[in-house]
Amino acid sequence: MDTEDPAKRMLGFLREYARKFLNSRLMDERRSLPPALVSDFAEVGLLGLQIPRSYQGQELSHSDMNRVFTQLGAIDANLAVLCVVQNTLGTPPIVLAANEAVKQDVLPRLATGRALTTSAISEPGIGSHVRGMDTSARRNPDGGYTINGAKKWISLGGDARYVNVFAKLHDEHGQPLGITGFLVDSRTPGFQVGPEMLTLGLRALPQYDLAFADLRVPASARLGDEGSGAAIAKTAFMAGRVVLAASTLGAAMRSLELAQRFATGRTIATGSMAENGRIRQILAEAGAAVQAVEELLARIAAWRDAGEDVPDAWYFCAKILGCELAWSAVDSALQVMAARGFLDTNTVGQHFRDFRLFRIFEGSTEAITVYLGTVMRRNPAGFLALVDRLRPGAEVRELAGQVAQLIADPPGDAAARHVHASVVGDLVCWTMMAMVTSGAASRSPMHAYTALWAERQLRDRLRSAPYDLDERSLPTAAEFADHVGGFGEAIGDIDQKRWPAEEWRADPLLIG
Ligand SMILES: Cc1cc2nc3c(=O)[nH]c(=O)nc-3n(C[C@H](O)[C@H](O)[C@H](O)COP(=O)(O)OP(=O)(O)OC[C@H]3O[C@@H](n4cnc5c(N)ncnc54)[C@H](O)[C@@H]3O)c2cc1C
Repeated sequence: MDTEDPAKRMLGFLREYARKFLNSRLMDERRSLPPALVSDFAEVGLLGLQIPRSYQGQELSHSDMNRVFTQLGAIDANLAVLCVVQNTLGTPPIVLAANEAVKQDVLPRLATGRALTTSAISEPGIGSHVRGMDTSARRNPDGGYTINGAKKWISLGGDARYVNVFAKLHDEHGQPLGITGFLVDSRTPGFQVGPEMLTLGLRALPQYDLAFADLRVPASARLGDEGSGAAIAKTAFMAGRVVLAASTLGAAMRSLELAQRFATGRTIATGSMAENGRIRQILAEAGAAVQAVEELLARIAAWRDAGEDVPDAWYFCAKILGCELAWSAVDSALQVMAARGFLDTNTVGQHFRDFRLFRIFEGSTEAITVYLGTVMRRNPAGFLALVDRLRPGAEVRELAGQVAQLIADPPGDAAARHVHASVVGDLVCWTMMAMVTSGAASRSPMHAYTALWAERQLRDRLRSAPYDLDERSLPTAAEFADHVGGFGEAIGDIDQKRWPAEEWRADPLLIG
Protein backbone atom coordinates (compact mmCIF):
# COMPACT_ATOMS: atom_id res chain seq x y z
CA MET A 1 0.00 0.00 0.00
CA ASP A 2 1.14 3.58 -0.74
CA THR A 3 1.76 5.35 2.55
CA GLU A 4 2.70 8.60 0.77
CA ASP A 5 -0.81 8.99 -0.67
CA PRO A 6 -3.21 8.61 2.28
CA ALA A 7 -6.30 8.64 0.06
CA LYS A 8 -4.89 5.83 -2.09
CA ARG A 9 -4.13 3.88 1.07
CA MET A 10 -7.73 4.36 2.25
CA LEU A 11 -9.15 3.35 -1.14
CA GLY A 12 -7.08 0.17 -1.09
CA PHE A 13 -8.21 -0.54 2.45
CA LEU A 14 -11.90 0.02 1.59
CA ARG A 15 -11.83 -2.20 -1.49
CA GLU A 16 -10.28 -5.05 0.42
CA TYR A 17 -12.57 -4.48 3.40
CA ALA A 18 -15.64 -4.63 1.16
CA ARG A 19 -14.49 -7.89 -0.40
CA LYS A 20 -13.54 -9.56 2.87
CA PHE A 21 -15.85 -8.26 5.57
CA LEU A 22 -18.94 -6.51 4.26
CA ASN A 23 -22.37 -7.80 3.41
CA SER A 24 -24.66 -4.83 2.86
CA ARG A 25 -27.80 -6.87 2.75
CA LEU A 26 -27.06 -8.43 6.14
CA MET A 27 -26.19 -5.00 7.57
CA ASP A 28 -29.53 -3.79 6.29
CA GLU A 29 -31.41 -6.73 7.72
CA ARG A 30 -29.67 -6.50 11.08
CA ARG A 31 -29.91 -2.73 11.12
CA SER A 32 -26.32 -2.45 12.30
CA LEU A 33 -22.73 -2.06 11.17
CA PRO A 34 -20.28 -4.94 11.76
CA PRO A 35 -18.97 -4.50 15.35
CA ALA A 36 -15.32 -3.89 14.42
CA LEU A 37 -16.06 -1.44 11.64
CA VAL A 38 -15.66 1.79 13.59
CA SER A 39 -12.29 0.81 15.04
CA ASP A 40 -11.11 -0.58 11.68
CA PHE A 41 -12.09 2.66 9.95
CA ALA A 42 -10.42 4.72 12.67
CA GLU A 43 -7.18 2.80 12.28
CA VAL A 44 -6.86 3.80 8.65
CA GLY A 45 -7.78 7.44 9.35
CA LEU A 46 -11.30 7.48 7.96
CA LEU A 47 -12.74 9.14 11.06
CA GLY A 48 -10.43 12.15 11.03
CA LEU A 49 -10.16 12.88 7.33
CA GLN A 50 -9.64 16.64 7.48
CA ILE A 51 -8.68 17.08 11.10
CA PRO A 52 -5.28 18.83 11.13
CA ARG A 53 -2.27 16.57 11.66
CA SER A 54 -1.44 18.49 14.83
CA TYR A 55 -4.57 16.87 16.32
CA GLN A 56 -3.71 13.43 14.86
CA GLY A 57 -5.96 13.78 11.80
CA GLN A 58 -5.21 13.08 8.14
CA GLU A 59 -5.56 16.65 6.85
CA LEU A 60 -6.73 15.35 3.45
CA SER A 61 -7.01 17.68 0.48
CA HIS A 62 -10.48 18.35 -0.93
CA SER A 63 -9.75 16.32 -4.07
CA ASP A 64 -8.77 13.37 -1.88
CA MET A 65 -11.94 13.81 0.21
CA ASN A 66 -13.94 13.39 -3.00
CA ARG A 67 -12.01 10.24 -3.93
CA VAL A 68 -12.61 8.68 -0.53
CA PHE A 69 -16.32 9.50 -0.45
CA THR A 70 -16.88 8.29 -4.01
CA GLN A 71 -15.31 4.99 -2.97
CA LEU A 72 -17.41 4.80 0.21
CA GLY A 73 -20.61 5.58 -1.69
CA ALA A 74 -19.85 2.91 -4.29
CA ILE A 75 -19.63 0.34 -1.50
CA ASP A 76 -22.49 1.23 0.84
CA ALA A 77 -24.40 4.38 1.84
CA ASN A 78 -24.19 3.47 5.53
CA LEU A 79 -20.40 3.67 5.42
CA ALA A 80 -20.56 6.94 3.50
CA VAL A 81 -22.98 8.49 5.98
CA LEU A 82 -20.99 7.30 8.99
CA CYS A 83 -18.00 9.17 7.54
CA VAL A 84 -20.08 12.14 6.33
CA VAL A 85 -21.51 12.65 9.80
CA GLN A 86 -18.22 12.22 11.63
CA ASN A 87 -16.10 14.24 9.20
CA THR A 88 -18.39 16.90 7.77
CA LEU A 89 -21.28 17.34 10.21
CA GLY A 90 -19.73 16.71 13.61
CA THR A 91 -16.09 17.73 13.26
CA PRO A 92 -16.12 21.03 11.30
CA PRO A 93 -17.97 23.13 13.93
CA ILE A 94 -15.39 21.97 16.49
CA VAL A 95 -12.41 22.73 14.25
CA LEU A 96 -13.93 26.06 13.29
CA ALA A 97 -15.26 27.34 16.57
CA ALA A 98 -14.32 25.37 19.70
CA ASN A 99 -11.75 26.88 22.03
CA GLU A 100 -8.20 25.55 21.89
CA ALA A 101 -8.35 23.49 25.09
CA VAL A 102 -11.51 21.75 23.86
CA LYS A 103 -9.91 21.07 20.47
CA GLN A 104 -6.82 19.59 22.13
CA ASP A 105 -9.05 17.31 24.16
CA VAL A 106 -11.69 16.30 21.62
CA LEU A 107 -10.14 16.31 18.14
CA PRO A 108 -7.52 13.57 18.78
CA ARG A 109 -10.26 11.36 20.22
CA LEU A 110 -12.33 11.86 17.07
CA ALA A 111 -9.39 11.43 14.70
CA THR A 112 -8.44 8.12 16.30
CA GLY A 113 -12.00 6.83 16.57
CA ARG A 114 -12.14 6.88 20.36
CA ALA A 115 -15.28 9.00 20.03
CA LEU A 116 -17.91 9.77 17.41
CA THR A 117 -19.53 13.12 16.79
CA THR A 118 -22.58 14.58 15.08
CA SER A 119 -24.61 17.79 14.87
CA ALA A 120 -28.17 18.23 16.05
CA ILE A 121 -30.19 20.92 14.29
CA SER A 122 -33.44 19.38 13.03
CA GLU A 123 -36.41 19.25 15.39
CA PRO A 124 -39.92 17.80 15.31
CA GLY A 125 -41.24 21.24 14.32
CA ILE A 126 -38.48 22.34 11.92
CA GLY A 127 -36.26 20.85 9.25
CA SER A 128 -35.13 23.16 6.48
CA HIS A 129 -36.36 26.22 8.36
CA VAL A 130 -33.47 26.28 10.81
CA ARG A 131 -34.23 29.73 12.22
CA GLY A 132 -37.59 28.44 13.44
CA MET A 133 -35.97 26.11 16.00
CA ASP A 134 -37.47 25.78 19.49
CA THR A 135 -34.55 24.31 21.45
CA SER A 136 -33.46 26.98 23.87
CA ALA A 137 -30.36 27.77 25.88
CA ARG A 138 -30.15 30.15 28.79
CA ARG A 139 -26.98 31.79 30.04
CA ASN A 140 -26.48 31.04 33.74
CA PRO A 141 -25.02 33.49 36.27
CA ASP A 142 -21.88 31.26 36.49
CA GLY A 143 -21.23 31.79 32.75
CA GLY A 144 -22.38 28.29 31.79
CA TYR A 145 -25.60 27.47 29.93
CA THR A 146 -28.73 25.35 30.42
CA ILE A 147 -30.24 23.71 27.33
CA ASN A 148 -33.82 22.49 26.97
CA GLY A 149 -35.58 21.10 23.92
CA ALA A 150 -35.80 18.25 21.46
CA LYS A 151 -34.01 17.28 18.26
CA LYS A 152 -35.08 14.77 15.64
CA TRP A 153 -33.48 12.48 13.02
CA ILE A 154 -30.00 12.81 14.50
CA SER A 155 -27.59 10.46 12.75
CA LEU A 156 -25.29 8.79 15.31
CA GLY A 157 -27.39 10.61 17.92
CA GLY A 158 -27.40 7.55 20.16
CA ASP A 159 -23.75 6.70 19.53
CA ALA A 160 -21.87 9.99 19.43
CA ARG A 161 -19.92 11.08 22.48
CA TYR A 162 -19.91 14.70 21.24
CA VAL A 163 -22.99 16.37 19.79
CA ASN A 164 -23.01 19.93 18.43
CA VAL A 165 -26.37 21.18 19.65
CA PHE A 166 -27.74 24.35 18.09
CA ALA A 167 -30.20 26.32 20.22
CA LYS A 168 -31.77 29.76 20.56
CA LEU A 169 -29.83 31.50 23.30
CA HIS A 170 -31.27 33.94 25.85
CA ASP A 171 -29.36 35.88 28.48
CA GLU A 172 -30.07 35.78 32.25
CA HIS A 173 -32.95 38.25 31.72
CA GLY A 174 -34.56 36.34 28.87
CA GLN A 175 -33.25 38.66 26.13
CA PRO A 176 -32.70 36.78 22.83
CA LEU A 177 -29.06 36.52 21.74
CA GLY A 178 -29.53 34.41 18.61
CA ILE A 179 -28.82 30.82 17.57
CA THR A 180 -25.72 29.48 19.29
CA GLY A 181 -23.87 26.17 19.03
CA PHE A 182 -22.73 24.08 22.01
CA LEU A 183 -20.46 21.07 22.04
CA VAL A 184 -22.30 18.70 24.35
CA ASP A 185 -20.77 15.61 25.90
CA SER A 186 -23.60 13.08 25.61
CA ARG A 187 -22.74 11.70 29.06
CA THR A 188 -23.97 14.94 30.64
CA PRO A 189 -27.05 14.52 32.89
CA GLY A 190 -30.15 15.69 31.04
CA PHE A 191 -29.03 14.29 27.66
CA GLN A 192 -31.73 11.83 26.60
CA VAL A 193 -31.71 9.47 23.60
CA GLY A 194 -34.62 7.79 21.84
CA PRO A 195 -36.55 6.42 20.22
CA GLU A 196 -34.68 5.19 17.16
CA MET A 197 -36.22 6.15 13.82
CA LEU A 198 -36.98 3.29 11.44
CA THR A 199 -36.04 4.65 8.05
CA LEU A 200 -36.67 3.53 4.46
CA GLY A 201 -32.97 3.08 3.78
CA LEU A 202 -29.69 3.60 5.56
CA ARG A 203 -30.82 0.94 7.96
CA ALA A 204 -27.43 0.09 9.41
CA LEU A 205 -26.93 3.63 10.67
CA PRO A 206 -29.85 4.55 12.88
CA GLN A 207 -31.19 8.02 13.54
CA TYR A 208 -32.51 9.06 16.92
CA ASP A 209 -34.66 11.58 18.67
CA LEU A 210 -32.70 13.51 21.29
CA ALA A 211 -34.05 15.50 24.21
CA PHE A 212 -32.34 17.91 26.59
CA ALA A 213 -33.85 18.36 30.04
CA ASP A 214 -32.13 21.15 31.98
CA LEU A 215 -28.85 20.03 30.46
CA ARG A 216 -26.05 22.17 31.89
CA VAL A 217 -22.85 22.82 29.95
CA PRO A 218 -19.84 24.95 30.92
CA ALA A 219 -18.97 28.19 29.12
CA SER A 220 -16.17 26.32 27.32
CA ALA A 221 -18.78 24.22 25.50
CA ARG A 222 -19.92 27.23 23.49
CA LEU A 223 -18.93 27.12 19.82
CA GLY A 224 -17.82 30.60 18.76
CA ASP A 225 -19.51 33.75 19.98
CA GLU A 226 -22.99 33.91 21.41
CA GLY A 227 -25.42 34.31 18.52
CA SER A 228 -22.96 33.08 15.90
CA GLY A 229 -24.43 29.56 15.61
CA ALA A 230 -26.27 30.02 12.32
CA ALA A 231 -23.17 31.44 10.64
CA ILE A 232 -20.96 28.68 12.07
CA ALA A 233 -23.39 25.98 10.93
CA LYS A 234 -23.58 27.53 7.45
CA THR A 235 -19.80 27.67 7.03
CA ALA A 236 -19.14 24.32 8.70
CA PHE A 237 -21.70 22.37 6.69
CA MET A 238 -21.18 23.93 3.26
CA ALA A 239 -18.31 21.62 2.30
CA GLY A 240 -20.28 18.58 3.47
CA ARG A 241 -22.63 19.16 0.56
CA VAL A 242 -19.84 18.30 -1.85
CA VAL A 243 -19.03 14.99 -0.20
CA LEU A 244 -22.71 14.01 -0.18
CA ALA A 245 -22.62 14.46 -3.95
CA ALA A 246 -19.29 12.59 -4.16
CA SER A 247 -20.82 9.65 -2.27
CA THR A 248 -23.89 9.54 -4.51
CA LEU A 249 -21.54 9.70 -7.49
CA GLY A 250 -19.84 6.53 -6.25
CA ALA A 251 -23.20 4.74 -5.99
CA ALA A 252 -24.09 5.87 -9.52
CA MET A 253 -20.75 4.67 -10.89
CA ARG A 254 -21.14 1.26 -9.30
CA SER A 255 -24.75 0.98 -10.50
CA LEU A 256 -23.82 1.90 -14.08
CA GLU A 257 -20.94 -0.54 -13.98
CA LEU A 258 -23.37 -3.34 -13.14
CA ALA A 259 -25.98 -2.16 -15.68
CA GLN A 260 -23.36 -2.03 -18.42
CA ARG A 261 -22.19 -5.57 -17.59
CA PHE A 262 -25.77 -6.79 -17.72
CA ALA A 263 -26.51 -5.02 -21.01
CA THR A 264 -23.38 -6.50 -22.56
CA GLY A 265 -24.32 -10.05 -21.62
CA ARG A 266 -28.04 -9.86 -22.23
CA THR A 267 -29.94 -10.63 -25.43
CA ILE A 268 -33.31 -8.94 -26.04
CA ALA A 269 -35.72 -9.10 -28.99
CA THR A 270 -33.53 -6.77 -31.08
CA GLY A 271 -30.31 -8.72 -30.36
CA SER A 272 -27.55 -7.57 -28.00
CA MET A 273 -29.07 -5.32 -25.37
CA ALA A 274 -25.94 -3.14 -25.29
CA GLU A 275 -26.39 -2.44 -29.04
CA ASN A 276 -30.07 -1.47 -28.79
CA GLY A 277 -30.42 2.23 -29.58
CA ARG A 278 -32.86 3.02 -26.79
CA ILE A 279 -30.74 1.21 -24.18
CA ARG A 280 -27.60 2.95 -25.45
CA GLN A 281 -29.41 6.25 -25.08
CA ILE A 282 -30.54 5.53 -21.50
CA LEU A 283 -27.07 4.40 -20.49
CA ALA A 284 -25.33 7.29 -22.26
CA GLU A 285 -27.57 9.88 -20.59
CA ALA A 286 -26.96 8.33 -17.19
CA GLY A 287 -23.26 8.23 -18.00
CA ALA A 288 -23.34 11.91 -18.98
CA ALA A 289 -25.04 12.79 -15.69
CA VAL A 290 -22.36 10.89 -13.79
CA GLN A 291 -19.52 12.50 -15.71
CA ALA A 292 -21.03 15.97 -15.33
CA VAL A 293 -21.19 15.52 -11.55
CA GLU A 294 -17.64 14.19 -11.50
CA GLU A 295 -16.38 17.24 -13.40
CA LEU A 296 -18.31 19.63 -11.21
CA LEU A 297 -16.95 18.16 -7.98
CA ALA A 298 -13.41 18.04 -9.35
CA ARG A 299 -13.65 21.72 -10.34
CA ILE A 300 -14.75 22.77 -6.86
CA ALA A 301 -12.10 20.64 -5.15
CA ALA A 302 -9.34 21.99 -7.42
CA TRP A 303 -10.26 25.57 -6.56
CA ARG A 304 -10.36 24.79 -2.87
CA ASP A 305 -7.06 22.93 -2.92
CA ALA A 306 -5.50 25.91 -4.71
CA GLY A 307 -6.79 28.15 -1.91
CA GLU A 308 -9.14 30.00 -4.27
CA ASP A 309 -12.43 31.44 -3.13
CA VAL A 310 -15.45 29.25 -3.98
CA PRO A 311 -18.77 31.13 -3.87
CA ASP A 312 -21.58 29.34 -2.02
CA ALA A 313 -23.51 28.86 -5.27
CA TRP A 314 -21.03 26.14 -6.30
CA TYR A 315 -21.66 24.16 -3.10
CA PHE A 316 -25.41 24.44 -3.58
CA CYS A 317 -25.05 23.35 -7.19
CA ALA A 318 -22.98 20.33 -6.08
CA LYS A 319 -25.61 19.30 -3.55
CA ILE A 320 -28.60 19.91 -5.81
CA LEU A 321 -27.41 18.53 -9.14
CA GLY A 322 -24.86 16.11 -7.67
CA CYS A 323 -27.39 14.26 -5.53
CA GLU A 324 -30.29 14.55 -7.99
CA LEU A 325 -28.40 13.47 -11.11
CA ALA A 326 -26.36 10.71 -9.53
CA TRP A 327 -29.44 9.26 -7.86
CA SER A 328 -31.39 9.36 -11.12
CA ALA A 329 -28.46 7.53 -12.75
CA VAL A 330 -28.89 4.81 -10.12
CA ASP A 331 -32.59 4.70 -11.06
CA SER A 332 -31.71 4.35 -14.77
CA ALA A 333 -29.29 1.53 -14.00
CA LEU A 334 -31.97 -0.21 -11.96
CA GLN A 335 -34.44 0.11 -14.85
CA VAL A 336 -31.94 -1.28 -17.36
CA MET A 337 -31.23 -4.22 -15.05
CA ALA A 338 -34.99 -4.76 -14.73
CA ALA A 339 -35.79 -7.69 -12.38
CA ARG A 340 -32.14 -7.98 -11.38
CA GLY A 341 -32.17 -4.32 -10.42
CA PHE A 342 -35.13 -4.93 -8.14
CA LEU A 343 -33.39 -7.75 -6.26
CA ASP A 344 -32.16 -6.78 -2.83
CA THR A 345 -28.93 -8.71 -3.27
CA ASN A 346 -27.71 -6.88 -6.38
CA THR A 347 -26.55 -3.60 -4.77
CA VAL A 348 -28.35 -1.25 -7.16
CA GLY A 349 -31.71 -1.56 -5.41
CA GLN A 350 -30.05 -0.84 -2.09
CA HIS A 351 -28.27 2.20 -3.51
CA PHE A 352 -31.61 3.37 -4.93
CA ARG A 353 -33.25 3.14 -1.51
CA ASP A 354 -30.33 4.44 0.56
CA PHE A 355 -29.22 7.37 -1.59
CA ARG A 356 -32.77 8.68 -1.90
CA LEU A 357 -32.00 10.33 1.43
CA PHE A 358 -29.30 12.50 -0.13
CA ARG A 359 -31.92 14.56 -1.96
CA ILE A 360 -33.47 15.35 1.41
CA PHE A 361 -30.97 15.88 4.18
CA GLU A 362 -28.38 18.61 4.69
CA GLY A 363 -30.63 20.90 2.65
CA SER A 364 -33.47 19.38 0.62
CA THR A 365 -33.29 20.03 -3.12
CA GLU A 366 -36.35 22.30 -3.11
CA ALA A 367 -35.30 24.33 -0.08
CA ILE A 368 -31.81 25.08 -1.31
CA THR A 369 -32.83 25.63 -4.94
CA VAL A 370 -35.31 28.27 -3.79
CA TYR A 371 -32.68 29.73 -1.46
CA LEU A 372 -30.07 29.88 -4.24
CA GLY A 373 -32.59 31.52 -6.59
CA THR A 374 -33.49 34.08 -3.93
CA VAL A 375 -29.84 34.92 -3.29
CA MET A 376 -29.19 35.33 -7.03
CA ARG A 377 -32.24 37.55 -7.38
CA ARG A 378 -30.91 39.80 -4.63
CA ASN A 379 -27.48 39.90 -6.23
CA PRO A 380 -27.70 39.39 -10.02
CA ALA A 381 -24.08 40.57 -10.31
CA GLY A 382 -23.12 37.45 -8.35
CA PHE A 383 -24.44 35.30 -11.19
CA LEU A 384 -22.55 37.28 -13.82
CA ALA A 385 -19.37 36.91 -11.75
CA LEU A 386 -19.84 33.11 -11.73
CA VAL A 387 -20.11 33.13 -15.52
CA ASP A 388 -17.19 35.49 -16.05
CA ARG A 389 -14.91 33.34 -13.94
CA LEU A 390 -15.26 30.31 -16.25
CA ARG A 391 -15.41 32.31 -19.51
CA PRO A 392 -17.64 29.82 -21.39
CA GLY A 393 -17.92 29.61 -25.19
CA ALA A 394 -20.43 31.65 -27.19
CA GLU A 395 -23.35 29.18 -26.96
CA VAL A 396 -23.25 28.76 -23.20
CA ARG A 397 -22.60 32.47 -22.69
CA GLU A 398 -25.68 33.26 -24.75
CA LEU A 399 -27.79 30.90 -22.63
CA ALA A 400 -26.32 32.42 -19.46
CA GLY A 401 -27.47 35.82 -20.79
CA GLN A 402 -31.04 34.49 -21.02
CA VAL A 403 -30.77 33.22 -17.42
CA ALA A 404 -29.57 36.67 -16.31
CA GLN A 405 -32.62 38.28 -17.96
CA LEU A 406 -34.93 35.92 -16.15
CA ILE A 407 -33.22 36.66 -12.82
CA ALA A 408 -33.78 40.35 -13.40
CA ASP A 409 -37.53 39.95 -13.96
CA PRO A 410 -39.15 38.56 -10.79
CA PRO A 411 -42.94 38.55 -10.37
CA GLY A 412 -44.63 40.53 -7.58
CA ASP A 413 -46.95 37.93 -6.06
CA ALA A 414 -45.51 35.86 -3.15
CA ALA A 415 -46.33 32.36 -4.45
CA ALA A 416 -45.16 33.29 -7.95
CA ARG A 417 -41.90 34.49 -6.42
CA HIS A 418 -41.37 31.05 -4.81
CA VAL A 419 -41.72 29.43 -8.22
CA HIS A 420 -39.49 32.07 -9.80
CA ALA A 421 -36.78 31.52 -7.17
CA SER A 422 -36.88 27.78 -7.81
CA VAL A 423 -36.68 28.21 -11.59
CA VAL A 424 -33.80 30.66 -11.18
CA GLY A 425 -31.93 28.39 -8.73
CA ASP A 426 -32.28 25.46 -11.11
CA LEU A 427 -31.17 27.49 -14.14
CA VAL A 428 -28.17 28.86 -12.26
CA CYS A 429 -27.12 25.29 -11.41
CA TRP A 430 -27.50 24.15 -15.01
CA THR A 431 -25.55 27.15 -16.28
CA MET A 432 -22.70 26.18 -13.96
CA MET A 433 -22.90 22.58 -15.09
CA ALA A 434 -22.93 23.57 -18.77
CA MET A 435 -19.89 25.78 -18.20
CA VAL A 436 -17.92 23.09 -16.40
CA THR A 437 -18.71 20.34 -18.91
CA SER A 438 -18.11 22.51 -21.98
CA GLY A 439 -14.68 23.35 -20.59
CA ALA A 440 -13.85 19.62 -20.56
CA ALA A 441 -15.51 18.73 -23.90
CA SER A 442 -12.30 18.13 -25.85
CA ARG A 443 -10.98 15.47 -23.45
CA SER A 444 -12.78 12.43 -24.96
CA PRO A 445 -15.83 11.49 -27.07
CA MET A 446 -17.76 10.89 -23.85
CA HIS A 447 -16.78 14.32 -22.53
CA ALA A 448 -18.01 15.88 -25.79
CA TYR A 449 -21.34 14.06 -25.42
CA THR A 450 -21.63 15.13 -21.77
CA ALA A 451 -21.05 18.79 -22.69
CA LEU A 452 -23.77 18.66 -25.35
CA TRP A 453 -26.09 16.85 -22.96
CA ALA A 454 -25.62 19.47 -20.22
CA GLU A 455 -26.12 22.34 -22.69
CA ARG A 456 -29.32 20.67 -23.90
CA GLN A 457 -30.60 20.38 -20.32
CA LEU A 458 -30.07 24.11 -19.89
CA ARG A 459 -31.74 24.93 -23.21
CA ASP A 460 -34.75 22.69 -22.42
CA ARG A 461 -35.18 24.32 -19.03
CA LEU A 462 -34.99 27.79 -20.49
CA ARG A 463 -37.62 26.80 -23.05
CA SER A 464 -40.02 25.50 -20.41
CA ALA A 465 -39.38 28.36 -17.96
CA PRO A 466 -42.30 30.55 -19.16
CA TYR A 467 -44.70 27.66 -18.56
CA ASP A 468 -43.11 26.84 -15.17
CA LEU A 469 -43.33 30.48 -14.17
CA ASP A 470 -47.03 30.78 -15.00
CA GLU A 471 -48.06 30.16 -11.42
CA ARG A 472 -51.70 30.99 -12.33
CA SER A 473 -51.97 27.62 -14.08
CA LEU A 474 -51.54 25.88 -10.71
CA PRO A 475 -54.59 24.88 -8.67
CA THR A 476 -54.78 26.94 -5.48
CA ALA A 477 -53.68 25.24 -2.25
CA ALA A 478 -57.36 24.98 -1.19
CA GLU A 479 -58.45 23.53 -4.56
CA PHE A 480 -55.72 20.92 -4.35
CA ALA A 481 -56.55 20.05 -0.73
CA ASP A 482 -60.17 19.56 -1.80
CA HIS A 483 -59.10 17.32 -4.64
CA VAL A 484 -56.93 15.10 -2.41
CA GLY A 485 -59.61 15.13 0.29
CA GLY A 486 -61.78 13.27 -2.21
CA PHE A 487 -59.35 10.32 -2.37
CA GLY A 488 -60.91 8.94 0.81
CA GLU A 489 -63.87 7.76 -1.25
CA ALA A 490 -61.60 5.64 -3.45
CA ILE A 491 -59.27 4.26 -0.76
CA GLY A 492 -61.01 4.68 2.61
CA ASP A 493 -59.19 5.22 5.92
CA ILE A 494 -56.43 2.61 6.00
CA ASP A 495 -54.00 3.65 8.76
CA GLN A 496 -52.43 0.38 9.87
CA LYS A 497 -51.81 -1.00 13.31
CA ARG A 498 -48.38 0.00 14.73
CA TRP A 499 -46.22 -2.74 16.22
CA PRO A 500 -44.54 -2.21 19.58
CA ALA A 501 -40.96 -2.13 18.23
CA GLU A 502 -41.78 0.64 15.81
CA GLU A 503 -42.07 4.35 16.39
CA TRP A 504 -45.69 3.86 17.42
CA ARG A 505 -46.96 7.35 17.91
CA ALA A 506 -48.85 8.74 14.93
CA ASP A 507 -47.03 11.80 13.58
CA PRO A 508 -49.34 14.79 14.29
CA LEU A 509 -48.51 16.25 10.87
CA LEU A 510 -49.85 13.12 9.15
CA ILE A 511 -53.21 12.81 10.93
CA GLY A 512 -56.17 13.79 8.73
C1 LIG B 1 -31.89 9.58 7.67
C2 LIG B 1 -31.84 11.01 8.13
C3 LIG B 1 -30.73 11.47 8.81
C4 LIG B 1 -30.69 12.79 9.28
N1 LIG B 1 -29.62 13.21 10.03
C5 LIG B 1 -29.65 14.45 10.60
C6 LIG B 1 -28.64 14.87 11.52
O1 LIG B 1 -27.68 14.13 11.80
N2 LIG B 1 -28.74 16.10 12.08
C7 LIG B 1 -29.78 16.93 11.81
O2 LIG B 1 -29.82 18.03 12.36
N3 LIG B 1 -30.76 16.57 10.96
C8 LIG B 1 -30.73 15.35 10.35
N4 LIG B 1 -31.73 14.95 9.51
C9 LIG B 1 -32.83 15.88 9.23
C10 LIG B 1 -32.75 16.44 7.82
O3 LIG B 1 -31.67 17.34 7.71
C11 LIG B 1 -34.11 17.09 7.53
O4 LIG B 1 -34.99 16.01 7.31
C12 LIG B 1 -34.08 18.00 6.33
O5 LIG B 1 -33.45 19.19 6.68
C13 LIG B 1 -35.49 18.31 5.83
O6 LIG B 1 -36.31 18.70 6.89
P1 LIG B 1 -37.77 18.07 7.11
O7 LIG B 1 -37.68 16.62 6.90
O8 LIG B 1 -38.29 18.57 8.39
O9 LIG B 1 -38.63 18.68 5.92
P2 LIG B 1 -39.19 20.18 5.78
O10 LIG B 1 -38.08 21.17 5.94
O11 LIG B 1 -40.41 20.34 6.60
O12 LIG B 1 -39.59 20.16 4.23
C14 LIG B 1 -40.79 19.54 3.76
C15 LIG B 1 -40.87 19.72 2.25
O13 LIG B 1 -40.88 21.13 1.94
C16 LIG B 1 -39.82 21.42 1.03
N5 LIG B 1 -39.31 22.74 1.38
C17 LIG B 1 -38.71 23.12 2.54
N6 LIG B 1 -38.38 24.41 2.49
C18 LIG B 1 -38.77 24.88 1.27
C19 LIG B 1 -38.74 26.14 0.62
N7 LIG B 1 -38.20 27.19 1.21
N8 LIG B 1 -39.29 26.23 -0.61
C20 LIG B 1 -39.84 25.16 -1.21
N9 LIG B 1 -39.90 23.94 -0.66
C21 LIG B 1 -39.37 23.80 0.57
C22 LIG B 1 -38.80 20.32 1.24
O14 LIG B 1 -37.99 20.13 0.10
C23 LIG B 1 -39.69 19.12 1.49
O15 LIG B 1 -40.11 18.60 0.26
C24 LIG B 1 -31.77 13.65 9.01
C25 LIG B 1 -32.88 13.18 8.29
C26 LIG B 1 -32.93 11.87 7.87
C27 LIG B 1 -34.16 11.39 7.14
